[in-house]
Amino acid sequence: MSDPTPTPEKRFHGAPVSPGISKGIAWVYHHEELVAPHYSVKLERVEEELRRFEDALLLTRGQIQQLQNRIAGSIGTEDAAVFDAHLLLVEDRMLIDEVVRSVKRDLVNVESVFAQVAGKYAKTLGEIDDPYLRERAVDIQDVSRRVMHNLLGRQQDLESHVTEPHVIIAHNLTPSDTAQFDRDLVLGMGMEIGSRTSHTAIMARSLKIPGVVGLHNITDEVATGDYVLLDGYKGLLIRNPSEATLKEYAFIESERNQVEKQLGSLRETECKTLDGTHIVLSANIEMPDDVHLVKESGAEGVGLFRTEFFYLNRTELPSEDAQYEAYRNVAENLAPAPVIIRTLDLGGDKQMSALNLPEELNPFLGWRAIRYCLEEVDVFKAQIRAILRASVRGNVRMMYPMISGVEEVRRANLILEECKSELRNENKPFDEHIEVGAMIEIPSAAISSDLIAREVDFFSIGTNDLIQYTIAVDRLNARIAHLYQPTHPAILRLIRTTVESARAHGIWVGVCGEMAGEVVLTPLLLGLGVSELSAGSAMVPRVKRAVQSLDLAVCRRLIEEVSLMDSAEKIYAACDSVARAHYLDLL
Ligand code: PEP
Ligand code: MG
Repeated sequence: MSDPTPTPEKRFHGAPVSPGISKGIAWVYHHEELVAPHYSVKLERVEEELRRFEDALLLTRGQIQQLQNRIAGSIGTEDAAVFDAHLLLVEDRMLIDEVVRSVKRDLVNVESVFAQVAGKYAKTLGEIDDPYLRERAVDIQDVSRRVMHNLLGRQQDLESHVTEPHVIIAHNLTPSDTAQFDRDLVLGMGMEIGSRTSHTAIMARSLKIPGVVGLHNITDEVATGDYVLLDGYKGLLIRNPSEATLKEYAFIESERNQVEKQLGSLRETECKTLDGTHIVLSANIEMPDDVHLVKESGAEGVGLFRTEFFYLNRTELPSEDAQYEAYRNVAENLAPAPVIIRTLDLGGDKQMSALNLPEELNPFLGWRAIRYCLEEVDVFKAQIRAILRASVRGNVRMMYPMISGVEEVRRANLILEECKSELRNENKPFDEHIEVGAMIEIPSAAISSDLIAREVDFFSIGTNDLIQYTIAVDRLNARIAHLYQPTHPAILRLIRTTVESARAHGIWVGVCGEMAGEVVLTPLLLGLGVSELSAGSAMVPRVKRAVQSLDLAVCRRLIEEVSLMDSAEKIYAACDSVARAHYLDLL
Protein backbone atom coordinates (compact mmCIF):
# COMPACT_ATOMS: atom_id res chain seq x y z
CA MET A 1 0.00 0.00 0.00
CA SER A 2 1.40 3.43 -0.81
CA ASP A 3 1.92 6.06 1.87
CA PRO A 4 -1.07 8.45 2.00
CA THR A 5 1.11 11.48 2.79
CA PRO A 6 3.59 12.59 0.16
CA THR A 7 6.16 13.79 2.71
CA PRO A 8 5.69 11.72 5.81
CA GLU A 9 7.02 12.82 9.15
CA LYS A 10 10.26 11.23 10.24
CA ARG A 11 11.74 11.31 13.74
CA PHE A 12 15.43 11.22 14.62
CA HIS A 13 16.59 10.60 18.16
CA GLY A 14 19.61 12.21 19.77
CA ALA A 15 20.51 13.67 23.14
CA PRO A 16 19.06 16.95 24.39
CA VAL A 17 21.70 19.55 25.25
CA SER A 18 19.80 22.81 25.34
CA PRO A 19 16.14 23.02 26.34
CA GLY A 20 13.40 24.52 24.19
CA ILE A 21 11.44 23.77 21.07
CA SER A 22 12.07 25.34 17.72
CA LYS A 23 10.60 24.85 14.30
CA GLY A 24 11.47 26.22 10.93
CA ILE A 25 13.45 25.70 7.80
CA ALA A 26 16.55 23.56 8.10
CA TRP A 27 19.89 24.78 6.92
CA VAL A 28 22.50 22.08 6.54
CA TYR A 29 25.95 23.36 7.28
CA HIS A 30 29.04 21.55 6.00
CA HIS A 31 32.13 22.57 7.83
CA GLU A 32 34.61 20.07 6.55
CA GLU A 33 38.06 21.38 5.87
CA LEU A 34 38.50 21.32 2.13
CA VAL A 35 41.47 19.29 1.08
CA ALA A 36 42.71 20.36 -2.30
CA PRO A 37 42.98 17.43 -4.70
CA HIS A 38 46.24 17.14 -6.56
CA TYR A 39 46.50 15.76 -10.09
CA SER A 40 48.35 16.39 -13.34
CA VAL A 41 46.82 18.30 -16.19
CA LYS A 42 47.75 17.69 -19.81
CA LEU A 43 49.16 20.61 -21.72
CA GLU A 44 46.11 20.82 -24.00
CA ARG A 45 43.80 21.10 -20.95
CA VAL A 46 45.62 23.95 -19.29
CA GLU A 47 43.37 26.59 -20.86
CA GLU A 48 40.31 24.80 -19.56
CA GLU A 49 41.89 24.58 -16.11
CA LEU A 50 42.54 28.33 -16.10
CA ARG A 51 38.98 29.01 -17.22
CA ARG A 52 37.75 27.07 -14.20
CA PHE A 53 39.87 29.32 -12.06
CA GLU A 54 38.47 32.44 -13.70
CA ASP A 55 34.91 31.20 -13.25
CA ALA A 56 35.50 30.43 -9.60
CA LEU A 57 36.94 33.92 -9.05
CA LEU A 58 33.95 35.51 -10.77
CA LEU A 59 31.51 33.47 -8.75
CA THR A 60 33.35 34.35 -5.56
CA ARG A 61 33.24 37.99 -6.46
CA GLY A 62 29.49 37.85 -7.00
CA GLN A 63 28.98 36.07 -3.69
CA ILE A 64 31.03 38.61 -1.77
CA GLN A 65 29.10 41.48 -3.33
CA GLN A 66 25.83 39.84 -2.44
CA LEU A 67 26.95 39.32 1.12
CA GLN A 68 28.15 42.90 1.27
CA ASN A 69 24.78 44.22 0.11
CA ARG A 70 22.96 42.08 2.62
CA ILE A 71 25.12 43.27 5.49
CA ALA A 72 24.93 46.89 4.38
CA GLY A 73 21.14 46.56 4.46
CA SER A 74 20.93 44.87 7.83
CA ILE A 75 23.87 46.03 9.93
CA GLY A 76 25.37 49.03 8.21
CA THR A 77 27.75 50.09 5.49
CA GLU A 78 30.70 50.33 7.84
CA ASP A 79 30.58 46.63 8.65
CA ALA A 80 29.96 45.82 5.02
CA ALA A 81 33.15 47.67 4.09
CA VAL A 82 35.14 44.78 5.55
CA PHE A 83 34.30 42.94 2.37
CA ASP A 84 36.02 45.56 0.22
CA ALA A 85 39.27 43.93 1.28
CA HIS A 86 37.88 40.57 0.25
CA LEU A 87 36.93 41.92 -3.16
CA LEU A 88 40.41 43.33 -3.64
CA LEU A 89 41.87 39.93 -2.93
CA VAL A 90 39.79 38.28 -5.63
CA GLU A 91 41.38 40.75 -8.01
CA ASP A 92 44.90 40.58 -6.62
CA ARG A 93 47.04 40.37 -9.76
CA MET A 94 50.13 39.07 -8.03
CA LEU A 95 48.31 36.16 -6.50
CA ILE A 96 46.34 35.36 -9.64
CA ASP A 97 49.41 35.56 -11.88
CA GLU A 98 51.38 33.28 -9.62
CA VAL A 99 48.63 30.67 -9.76
CA VAL A 100 48.36 30.93 -13.54
CA ARG A 101 52.13 30.67 -13.98
CA SER A 102 52.37 27.63 -11.72
CA VAL A 103 49.54 25.78 -13.44
CA LYS A 104 51.19 26.37 -16.79
CA ARG A 105 54.67 25.47 -15.57
CA ASP A 106 53.92 22.47 -13.35
CA LEU A 107 50.93 21.11 -15.30
CA VAL A 108 48.89 20.44 -12.17
CA ASN A 109 45.28 21.22 -11.29
CA VAL A 110 44.35 24.70 -10.15
CA GLU A 111 43.01 23.74 -6.69
CA SER A 112 46.33 22.32 -5.70
CA VAL A 113 48.26 25.38 -6.89
CA PHE A 114 45.76 27.85 -5.51
CA ALA A 115 45.77 26.25 -2.04
CA GLN A 116 49.54 26.40 -1.98
CA VAL A 117 49.89 30.00 -3.20
CA ALA A 118 47.09 31.38 -1.02
CA GLY A 119 48.48 29.49 1.96
CA LYS A 120 51.91 31.01 1.37
CA TYR A 121 50.46 34.54 1.16
CA ALA A 122 48.45 34.06 4.33
CA LYS A 123 51.46 32.68 6.18
CA THR A 124 53.72 35.54 5.11
CA LEU A 125 51.19 38.16 6.11
CA GLY A 126 50.38 36.35 9.34
CA GLU A 127 54.00 36.61 10.44
CA ILE A 128 54.34 40.34 9.85
CA ASP A 129 54.44 42.42 13.00
CA ASP A 130 51.65 44.74 11.95
CA PRO A 131 48.11 44.22 13.17
CA TYR A 132 46.55 45.53 9.95
CA LEU A 133 48.54 43.19 7.72
CA ARG A 134 47.97 40.26 10.02
CA GLU A 135 44.27 40.92 9.73
CA ARG A 136 44.67 40.64 5.94
CA ALA A 137 45.99 37.11 6.45
CA VAL A 138 42.61 36.16 7.84
CA ASP A 139 40.94 37.81 4.87
CA ILE A 140 43.06 35.71 2.53
CA GLN A 141 42.12 32.54 4.36
CA ASP A 142 38.49 33.51 4.24
CA VAL A 143 38.45 34.36 0.56
CA SER A 144 40.55 31.39 -0.44
CA ARG A 145 38.15 29.06 1.39
CA ARG A 146 35.37 30.61 -0.65
CA VAL A 147 37.28 30.25 -3.91
CA MET A 148 38.12 26.67 -3.04
CA HIS A 149 34.47 25.89 -2.33
CA ASN A 150 33.60 27.27 -5.73
CA LEU A 151 36.36 25.40 -7.55
CA LEU A 152 35.14 22.18 -6.00
CA GLY A 153 31.47 23.05 -6.46
CA ARG A 154 30.75 22.77 -2.73
CA GLN A 155 28.20 24.51 -0.54
CA GLN A 156 28.99 27.79 1.18
CA ASP A 157 29.92 28.02 4.80
CA LEU A 158 28.55 29.63 7.88
CA GLU A 159 29.02 33.34 7.61
CA SER A 160 27.81 33.70 4.05
CA HIS A 161 24.55 31.88 4.29
CA VAL A 162 20.88 32.25 4.94
CA THR A 163 19.19 35.46 5.79
CA GLU A 164 16.07 33.85 7.20
CA PRO A 165 15.53 32.25 10.57
CA HIS A 166 16.55 28.61 10.42
CA VAL A 167 17.38 25.49 12.37
CA ILE A 168 21.02 24.75 11.77
CA ILE A 169 21.93 21.13 11.07
CA ALA A 170 25.56 20.10 11.08
CA HIS A 171 27.91 17.24 11.68
CA ASN A 172 29.55 19.35 14.33
CA LEU A 173 29.83 22.99 15.25
CA THR A 174 32.82 24.46 16.98
CA PRO A 175 32.62 27.07 19.73
CA SER A 176 33.92 29.56 17.13
CA ASP A 177 31.02 28.70 14.83
CA THR A 178 28.57 29.22 17.66
CA ALA A 179 30.20 32.49 18.58
CA GLN A 180 29.35 33.74 15.06
CA PHE A 181 25.68 32.86 15.32
CA ASP A 182 23.18 35.55 14.72
CA ARG A 183 20.90 34.98 17.71
CA ASP A 184 17.91 36.23 15.76
CA LEU A 185 18.44 33.85 12.88
CA VAL A 186 19.44 30.59 14.51
CA LEU A 187 16.29 29.02 15.95
CA GLY A 188 17.81 25.73 16.96
CA MET A 189 20.73 23.45 16.32
CA GLY A 190 20.92 19.73 15.59
CA MET A 191 24.31 18.04 15.40
CA GLU A 192 25.55 14.57 14.60
CA ILE A 193 28.17 14.56 17.32
CA GLY A 194 28.82 16.44 20.54
CA SER A 195 27.68 16.18 24.11
CA ARG A 196 26.01 18.08 26.90
CA THR A 197 29.26 19.40 28.26
CA SER A 198 30.83 20.40 24.94
CA HIS A 199 31.41 24.13 24.86
CA THR A 200 29.14 24.47 21.89
CA ALA A 201 26.29 22.98 23.91
CA ILE A 202 27.14 25.23 26.84
CA MET A 203 27.01 28.24 24.54
CA ALA A 204 23.73 27.13 23.00
CA ARG A 205 22.21 27.03 26.46
CA SER A 206 23.56 30.41 27.31
CA LEU A 207 22.22 31.83 24.04
CA LYS A 208 18.94 30.03 24.78
CA ILE A 209 19.05 28.19 21.47
CA PRO A 210 17.41 24.75 21.71
CA GLY A 211 19.92 22.05 20.83
CA VAL A 212 20.15 18.32 20.18
CA VAL A 213 23.34 16.31 19.58
CA GLY A 214 24.02 12.70 18.63
CA LEU A 215 21.69 12.84 15.62
CA HIS A 216 23.62 10.30 13.59
CA ASN A 217 23.74 10.94 9.84
CA ILE A 218 21.29 13.81 10.16
CA THR A 219 23.13 15.80 7.49
CA ASP A 220 22.23 13.04 5.03
CA GLU A 221 18.64 12.74 6.19
CA VAL A 222 17.70 16.40 6.24
CA ALA A 223 18.22 18.79 3.34
CA THR A 224 18.46 22.55 3.39
CA GLY A 225 14.91 23.87 3.03
CA ASP A 226 13.17 20.96 4.80
CA TYR A 227 10.73 21.95 7.50
CA VAL A 228 11.87 20.58 10.86
CA LEU A 229 10.88 20.66 14.49
CA LEU A 230 13.61 20.38 17.09
CA ASP A 231 12.79 19.29 20.63
CA GLY A 232 15.62 20.27 22.96
CA TYR A 233 13.87 18.72 25.96
CA LYS A 234 13.62 15.18 24.63
CA GLY A 235 16.47 15.25 22.12
CA LEU A 236 14.35 14.81 19.01
CA LEU A 237 14.45 16.20 15.51
CA ILE A 238 11.32 15.75 13.44
CA ARG A 239 11.46 16.21 9.67
CA ASN A 240 8.17 17.28 8.08
CA PRO A 241 6.18 17.19 11.34
CA SER A 242 2.56 16.17 10.76
CA GLU A 243 -0.43 18.32 11.72
CA ALA A 244 -0.97 16.10 14.75
CA THR A 245 2.65 16.52 15.88
CA LEU A 246 2.49 20.28 15.44
CA LYS A 247 -0.68 20.37 17.55
CA GLU A 248 0.87 18.19 20.21
CA TYR A 249 3.88 20.50 20.33
CA ALA A 250 1.77 23.62 20.52
CA PHE A 251 0.27 22.11 23.65
CA ILE A 252 3.67 21.13 25.11
CA GLU A 253 4.98 24.61 24.42
CA SER A 254 2.11 26.29 26.19
CA GLU A 255 2.64 24.01 29.22
CA ARG A 256 6.36 24.77 29.23
CA ASN A 257 5.69 28.46 28.95
CA GLN A 258 3.48 28.18 31.99
CA VAL A 259 6.30 26.61 34.02
CA GLU A 260 8.77 29.18 32.68
CA LYS A 261 6.45 32.01 33.71
CA GLN A 262 6.16 30.56 37.17
CA LEU A 263 9.94 30.27 37.38
CA GLY A 264 10.26 33.87 36.26
CA SER A 265 8.35 34.95 39.34
CA LEU A 266 11.13 33.52 41.54
CA ARG A 267 13.59 36.09 40.30
CA GLU A 268 13.60 38.26 43.42
CA THR A 269 13.27 35.43 45.93
CA GLU A 270 16.13 34.14 48.01
CA CYS A 271 17.80 30.86 47.17
CA LYS A 272 17.45 29.03 50.44
CA THR A 273 16.41 25.54 51.41
CA LEU A 274 13.22 24.76 53.36
CA ASP A 275 15.25 24.69 56.56
CA GLY A 276 16.59 28.17 55.81
CA THR A 277 20.13 27.46 54.54
CA HIS A 278 21.25 29.98 51.98
CA ILE A 279 22.83 28.43 48.91
CA VAL A 280 24.64 30.95 46.75
CA LEU A 281 23.20 30.66 43.27
CA SER A 282 25.33 32.15 40.52
CA ALA A 283 25.36 32.10 36.76
CA ASN A 284 28.02 31.11 34.25
CA ILE A 285 28.73 33.47 31.39
CA GLU A 286 30.66 33.08 28.19
CA MET A 287 30.58 36.61 26.82
CA PRO A 288 30.66 40.03 28.47
CA ASP A 289 27.31 40.72 26.76
CA ASP A 290 25.64 37.95 28.73
CA VAL A 291 25.34 40.12 31.82
CA HIS A 292 21.71 40.98 31.17
CA LEU A 293 20.89 37.25 31.16
CA VAL A 294 22.44 36.95 34.61
CA LYS A 295 20.23 39.74 35.89
CA GLU A 296 17.11 38.35 34.27
CA SER A 297 17.79 34.90 35.72
CA GLY A 298 17.80 36.11 39.30
CA ALA A 299 21.32 34.81 39.95
CA GLU A 300 23.33 36.38 42.76
CA GLY A 301 26.36 37.00 40.63
CA VAL A 302 28.67 35.23 38.22
CA GLY A 303 30.27 32.03 39.49
CA LEU A 304 32.22 31.40 36.30
CA PHE A 305 33.11 33.95 33.67
CA ARG A 306 34.74 31.86 30.92
CA THR A 307 37.13 34.29 29.30
CA GLU A 308 38.19 32.14 26.34
CA PHE A 309 35.31 33.17 24.15
CA PHE A 310 36.71 36.60 24.24
CA TYR A 311 39.81 35.22 22.45
CA LEU A 312 37.95 33.26 19.78
CA ASN A 313 37.51 34.37 16.18
CA ARG A 314 40.31 36.88 16.30
CA THR A 315 43.82 36.92 15.03
CA GLU A 316 45.40 38.78 17.92
CA LEU A 317 45.34 38.41 21.64
CA PRO A 318 43.15 40.97 23.35
CA SER A 319 45.27 43.67 24.95
CA GLU A 320 45.32 44.29 28.69
CA ASP A 321 43.23 47.42 28.18
CA ALA A 322 40.64 45.67 26.03
CA GLN A 323 40.33 42.94 28.63
CA TYR A 324 40.13 45.47 31.43
CA GLU A 325 37.25 47.22 29.65
CA ALA A 326 35.36 43.96 29.28
CA TYR A 327 35.90 42.83 32.88
CA ARG A 328 35.19 46.30 34.23
CA ASN A 329 31.95 46.40 32.29
CA VAL A 330 30.73 43.11 33.72
CA ALA A 331 31.90 43.98 37.24
CA GLU A 332 30.27 47.42 37.23
CA ASN A 333 27.09 46.09 35.76
CA LEU A 334 26.67 43.48 38.43
CA ALA A 335 28.15 45.25 41.47
CA PRO A 336 27.87 44.63 44.37
CA ALA A 337 27.24 41.06 43.21
CA PRO A 338 30.43 39.01 42.85
CA VAL A 339 31.93 38.06 39.51
CA ILE A 340 34.42 35.20 39.39
CA ILE A 341 36.66 35.62 36.39
CA ARG A 342 38.41 32.46 35.32
CA THR A 343 41.82 32.93 33.78
CA LEU A 344 42.43 31.67 30.28
CA ASP A 345 41.40 28.05 29.82
CA LEU A 346 42.22 27.39 26.23
CA GLY A 347 42.82 23.93 24.85
CA GLY A 348 40.71 20.83 24.35
CA ASP A 349 37.81 21.92 22.19
CA LYS A 350 38.62 25.60 22.70
CA GLN A 351 41.36 26.26 20.19
CA MET A 352 42.41 29.78 19.44
CA SER A 353 43.93 30.90 16.21
CA ALA A 354 45.47 33.89 17.98
CA LEU A 355 47.79 31.76 20.06
CA ASN A 356 49.39 29.73 17.31
CA LEU A 357 49.45 26.59 19.37
CA PRO A 358 51.21 23.49 18.12
CA GLU A 359 48.98 20.60 17.11
CA GLU A 360 48.91 17.94 19.76
CA LEU A 361 47.90 14.32 19.74
CA ASN A 362 45.97 14.68 22.98
CA PRO A 363 44.89 18.31 23.31
CA PHE A 364 42.74 17.59 26.37
CA LEU A 365 45.83 16.33 28.15
CA GLY A 366 48.19 18.77 26.55
CA TRP A 367 49.74 22.16 26.89
CA ARG A 368 46.65 24.07 27.90
CA ALA A 369 45.05 26.45 30.38
CA ILE A 370 47.23 27.14 33.45
CA ARG A 371 50.06 25.09 31.93
CA TYR A 372 50.17 27.46 29.01
CA CYS A 373 49.77 30.55 31.19
CA LEU A 374 52.61 29.60 33.52
CA GLU A 375 54.94 29.45 30.54
CA GLU A 376 53.56 32.29 28.46
CA VAL A 377 53.82 34.64 31.39
CA ASP A 378 53.21 37.82 29.39
CA VAL A 379 49.83 36.57 28.17
CA PHE A 380 48.94 35.52 31.71
CA LYS A 381 50.10 38.78 33.24
CA ALA A 382 48.10 40.89 30.81
CA GLN A 383 44.99 39.05 31.89
CA ILE A 384 45.74 39.14 35.60
CA ARG A 385 46.55 42.85 35.48
CA ALA A 386 43.28 43.49 33.66
CA ILE A 387 41.36 41.49 36.26
CA LEU A 388 43.11 43.29 39.13
CA ARG A 389 42.42 46.70 37.63
CA ALA A 390 38.77 45.77 37.18
CA SER A 391 38.60 44.57 40.80
CA VAL A 392 38.09 48.10 42.15
CA ARG A 393 35.12 48.61 39.85
CA GLY A 394 32.98 45.93 41.44
CA ASN A 395 33.17 42.73 43.40
CA VAL A 396 35.72 40.74 41.42
CA ARG A 397 37.26 37.39 42.25
CA MET A 398 39.47 35.25 40.09
CA MET A 399 40.23 31.57 39.72
CA TYR A 400 42.69 29.33 37.94
CA PRO A 401 41.49 26.52 35.67
CA MET A 402 42.95 23.04 35.21
CA ILE A 403 44.95 23.03 38.39
CA SER A 404 46.58 19.64 38.86
CA GLY A 405 48.42 20.30 42.09
CA VAL A 406 49.48 22.86 44.65
CA GLU A 407 52.71 23.77 42.88
CA GLU A 408 50.80 25.32 40.00
CA VAL A 409 48.71 27.39 42.39
CA ARG A 410 51.83 28.65 44.15
CA ARG A 411 53.44 29.61 40.86
CA ALA A 412 50.29 31.32 39.64
CA ASN A 413 50.02 33.19 42.94
CA LEU A 414 53.60 34.39 42.60
CA ILE A 415 52.79 35.85 39.20
CA LEU A 416 49.69 37.41 40.73
CA GLU A 417 51.86 39.04 43.42
CA GLU A 418 54.21 40.32 40.73
CA CYS A 419 51.29 41.92 38.92
CA LYS A 420 50.06 43.48 42.15
CA SER A 421 53.41 45.00 42.88
CA GLU A 422 53.69 46.37 39.33
CA LEU A 423 50.30 48.01 39.65
CA ARG A 424 51.23 49.49 43.03
CA ASN A 425 54.33 51.02 41.44
CA GLU A 426 52.22 52.39 38.61
CA ASN A 427 49.70 53.80 41.09
CA LYS A 428 46.93 51.81 39.52
CA PRO A 429 44.34 50.84 42.10
CA PHE A 430 43.15 47.26 42.64
CA ASP A 431 41.48 45.27 45.39
CA GLU A 432 44.33 44.23 47.71
CA HIS A 433 42.12 41.48 49.15
CA ILE A 434 40.84 40.03 45.91
CA GLU A 435 39.67 36.47 46.53
CA VAL A 436 41.52 33.84 44.53
CA GLY A 437 40.25 30.35 43.90
CA ALA A 438 41.30 27.11 42.27
CA MET A 439 39.13 25.07 40.02
CA ILE A 440 39.00 21.46 41.04
CA GLU A 441 38.53 19.62 37.78
CA ILE A 442 41.43 17.22 37.63
CA PRO A 443 41.37 14.18 39.94
CA SER A 444 44.85 14.90 41.28
CA ALA A 445 43.63 18.30 42.46
CA ALA A 446 40.66 16.80 44.25
CA ILE A 447 42.85 14.18 45.90
CA SER A 448 45.39 16.77 47.01
CA SER A 449 42.79 19.43 47.76
CA ASP A 450 43.97 19.60 51.38
CA LEU A 451 47.27 21.00 50.12
CA ILE A 452 45.69 23.39 47.65
CA ALA A 453 43.19 24.68 50.19
CA ARG A 454 46.04 26.39 52.08
CA GLU A 455 46.83 28.58 49.10
CA VAL A 456 43.40 29.81 48.00
CA ASP A 457 40.20 31.44 49.25
CA PHE A 458 37.75 29.07 47.58
CA PHE A 459 37.31 26.03 45.37
CA SER A 460 35.08 25.79 42.36
CA ILE A 461 34.50 22.25 41.18
CA GLY A 462 34.46 21.93 37.41
CA THR A 463 32.51 18.73 37.11
CA ASN A 464 32.60 18.71 33.31
CA ASP A 465 36.29 18.03 33.27
CA LEU A 466 36.40 16.24 36.60
CA ILE A 467 34.12 13.56 35.14
CA GLN A 468 36.03 13.46 31.88
CA TYR A 469 39.42 12.98 33.55
CA THR A 470 38.28 10.70 36.36
CA ILE A 471 36.45 8.21 34.19
CA ALA A 472 38.77 8.79 31.22
CA VAL A 473 35.83 9.53 28.97
CA ASP A 474 36.09 12.28 26.36
CA ARG A 475 33.36 14.80 27.16
CA LEU A 476 32.77 15.41 23.44
CA ASN A 477 32.52 11.87 22.23
CA ALA A 478 28.91 10.85 21.65
CA ARG A 479 29.95 7.23 21.12
CA ILE A 480 30.90 6.86 24.77
CA ALA A 481 28.47 9.38 26.22
CA HIS A 482 26.81 6.62 28.24
CA LEU A 483 30.06 6.26 30.20
CA TYR A 484 30.07 9.93 31.12
CA GLN A 485 28.39 9.52 34.49
CA PRO A 486 28.11 12.43 36.91
CA THR A 487 26.87 10.03 39.59
CA HIS A 488 29.77 7.59 39.28
CA PRO A 489 30.79 6.64 42.85
CA ALA A 490 34.31 7.97 42.15
CA ILE A 491 32.93 11.43 41.35
CA LEU A 492 31.01 11.52 44.60
CA ARG A 493 34.13 10.57 46.51
CA LEU A 494 36.20 13.28 44.84
CA ILE A 495 33.59 15.95 45.55
CA ARG A 496 33.34 14.76 49.12
CA THR A 497 37.14 14.89 49.57
CA THR A 498 37.21 18.40 48.12
CA VAL A 499 34.45 19.63 50.44
CA GLU A 500 36.16 18.07 53.46
CA SER A 501 39.49 19.71 52.61
CA ALA A 502 37.80 23.05 52.18
CA ARG A 503 35.97 22.74 55.50
CA ALA A 504 39.15 21.82 57.31
CA HIS A 505 40.78 25.01 56.00
CA GLY A 506 37.78 27.30 56.37
CA ILE A 507 37.19 28.02 52.69
CA TRP A 508 34.03 27.63 50.63
CA VAL A 509 33.27 25.28 47.75
CA GLY A 510 31.11 25.87 44.70
CA VAL A 511 30.27 23.78 41.68
CA CYS A 512 30.39 25.49 38.31
CA GLY A 513 30.24 22.50 35.94
CA GLU A 514 27.03 21.50 34.22
CA MET A 515 26.10 19.28 37.17
CA ALA A 516 25.18 22.48 39.01
CA GLY A 517 22.37 23.11 36.52
CA GLU A 518 20.92 19.61 36.57
CA VAL A 519 18.08 19.73 39.03
CA VAL A 520 18.00 15.95 39.46
CA LEU A 521 21.44 16.30 41.05
CA THR A 522 20.73 19.32 43.27
CA PRO A 523 19.91 17.13 46.32
CA LEU A 524 23.21 15.30 45.83
CA LEU A 525 25.34 18.45 45.68
CA LEU A 526 23.60 20.05 48.64
CA GLY A 527 23.93 16.84 50.64
CA LEU A 528 27.65 16.75 49.89
CA GLY A 529 28.02 20.19 51.44
CA VAL A 530 28.51 22.44 48.44
CA SER A 531 27.59 26.02 49.31
CA GLU A 532 27.49 27.66 45.87
CA LEU A 533 25.99 26.47 42.60
CA SER A 534 26.82 28.22 39.37
CA ALA A 535 24.83 27.22 36.30
CA GLY A 536 24.02 28.61 32.87
CA SER A 537 21.58 31.53 33.24
CA ALA A 538 18.83 29.53 31.54
CA MET A 539 19.08 26.91 34.30
CA VAL A 540 19.26 29.30 37.25
CA PRO A 541 15.49 29.68 37.93
CA ARG A 542 15.04 25.91 37.87
CA VAL A 543 17.90 25.35 40.28
CA LYS A 544 16.47 28.01 42.57
CA ARG A 545 13.10 26.25 42.62
CA ALA A 546 14.83 22.94 43.34
CA VAL A 547 16.85 24.40 46.25
CA GLN A 548 13.75 26.10 47.66
CA SER A 549 11.90 22.77 47.62
CA LEU A 550 14.56 20.79 49.46
CA ASP A 551 15.45 20.24 53.08
CA LEU A 552 19.15 19.78 53.89
CA ALA A 553 18.36 16.89 56.22
CA VAL A 554 16.75 15.03 53.29
CA CYS A 555 19.80 15.73 51.13
CA ARG A 556 22.18 14.46 53.80
CA ARG A 557 20.13 11.29 54.21
CA LEU A 558 20.41 10.82 50.46
CA ILE A 559 24.19 10.97 50.77
CA GLU A 560 24.19 8.32 53.49
CA GLU A 561 22.09 6.16 51.24
CA VAL A 562 24.08 6.63 48.03
CA SER A 563 27.45 6.23 49.74
CA LEU A 564 26.62 2.55 50.07
CA MET A 565 25.68 2.17 46.41
CA ASP A 566 27.97 0.64 43.83
CA SER A 567 26.72 2.03 40.54
CA ALA A 568 26.08 5.34 38.83
CA GLU A 569 22.61 4.16 37.77
CA LYS A 570 21.55 3.36 41.32
CA ILE A 571 22.85 6.68 42.63
CA TYR A 572 21.14 8.56 39.83
CA ALA A 573 17.87 6.75 40.53
CA ALA A 574 18.09 7.66 44.23
CA CYS A 575 18.64 11.35 43.35
CA ASP A 576 15.83 11.21 40.84
CA SER A 577 13.41 9.87 43.39
CA VAL A 578 14.20 12.72 45.84
CA ALA A 579 13.85 15.24 43.01
CA ARG A 580 10.53 13.77 41.88
CA ALA A 581 9.19 13.83 45.40
CA HIS A 582 9.95 17.55 45.74
CA TYR A 583 9.64 19.17 42.30
CA LEU A 584 8.14 16.79 39.80
CA ASP A 585 7.02 19.62 37.49
CA LEU A 586 10.64 20.66 36.86
CA LEU A 587 11.48 17.25 35.48
C1 PEP B 1 34.23 22.31 34.00
O1 PEP B 1 35.16 21.68 33.51
O2 PEP B 1 33.32 21.81 34.68
C2 PEP B 1 34.13 23.75 33.77
C3 PEP B 1 33.25 24.49 34.40
O3 PEP B 1 34.97 24.29 32.85
P1 PEP B 1 34.75 24.15 31.27
O4 PEP B 1 33.41 23.52 31.04
O5 PEP B 1 34.85 25.52 30.72
O6 PEP B 1 35.88 23.26 30.90
MG1 MG C 1 36.88 22.71 32.71
